Amino acid sequence: MKQIFNFSAGPAVLPKPVLERAQAEMLDWHGSGMSVMEMSHRGKEFTSILEKTEADFRQLLRIPANYKVLFLQGGAIAENAMIPLNLLNGKTADYVVTGAWSKRSVEDARAYGNIHVAADAEQTGFTTVPDFASWQLTPDAAYVHYCTNETINGVEFLQVPETHGVPIVADMSSHILSRPIDVSKYGVIYGGAQKNIGPAGLCLVIVREDLLAQASPLTPAVFHWKTQADNQSMINTPPTYSIYIAGLVFEWLLAQGGVEAMEQINIAKANLLYDYLDQTDFYYNPIQPAYRSRMNIPFRLRDETLNDAFLKAADLHGLLQLKGHRTVGGMRASIYNAMPIEGVQALVAFMQTFEK
Ligand code: PMP
Repeated sequence: MKQIFNFSAGPAVLPKPVLERAQAEMLDWHGSGMSVMEMSHRGKEFTSILEKTEADFRQLLRIPANYKVLFLQGGAIAENAMIPLNLLNGKTADYVVTGAWSKRSVEDARAYGNIHVAADAEQTGFTTVPDFASWQLTPDAAYVHYCTNETINGVEFLQVPETHGVPIVADMSSHILSRPIDVSKYGVIYGGAQKNIGPAGLCLVIVREDLLAQASPLTPAVFHWKTQADNQSMINTPPTYSIYIAGLVFEWLLAQGGVEAMEQINIAKANLLYDYLDQTDFYYNPIQPAYRSRMNIPFRLRDETLNDAFLKAADLHGLLQLKGHRTVGGMRASIYNAMPIEGVQALVAFMQTFEK
């Protein structure tokens, strides 16, 4: 098989050892005679997979005991609606808009109650995060929602704003597990799996226990966090195979040295590409340096008439899925945990050659 590097924003590259292990276990998981796909979600085999997957996830992110981990479906977009249904309880919620995904979260939430945009970076073309001091927070809001890594725009921040006791709800879909986080600073953390965790079909929600008591009676059972928490995420059939692959990814991450080690590698990978982008006149990245994403690096050619030629040549060099999101154009390199540094080196080398 020819060497390729896959820069897709998601579904995205998975660690090769994980895919090899899934391949080896495909027909017969641990002597059970069954594929994981064929197992009852309530049987002892799958129960052991789910328990180990949750334990490893908790270890990786040091999730405190007073937080529940839910394995849900519907992706991050389903949670956009379920967050107000589970938390709003007749109050106002504050939203901060730093890119396409947090903007979408506002649109999805509006149907469920009073949604207040506390800060909005759209005027900058989504190239920065508004100063925390400028956020117009509502003192008794039900929660403050933001997206810590904007997958399309390439804007990332991890400083946690002071919200004076108002719970923070963070969409971490595209950089969860790329670096350590202090979970205790958040009320809810959620993310679709298909970037840094595993296959599509699984959405992880980490929720502080005291926030489980305020859901609207209209909340569907499969999205009702307390119901799911009380039933080990099995009020319905969970996405078993996606959970299994996520579990293999967590084991792989632990073997790499956990999220602390991943952060160092991710910094090195991102620096490699940003350093090159900053010293060439041929390409550029428009994001304010303090908020540049380590996971999703959009870049443009100064001469956009060369876009098609760039993508075609990149493909021929085994550098795949570099086309930017259809709403913003240009290019984007997504370099999640599973992208080895060799992939970024190959990309930079190709970009230099193309420039010449
Ligand atoms: N939020 C972010 C930050 C995302 O990157 C995405 C997917 N690209 C979504 C939400 C939507 O996720 P899904 O398609 O899994 O619902």
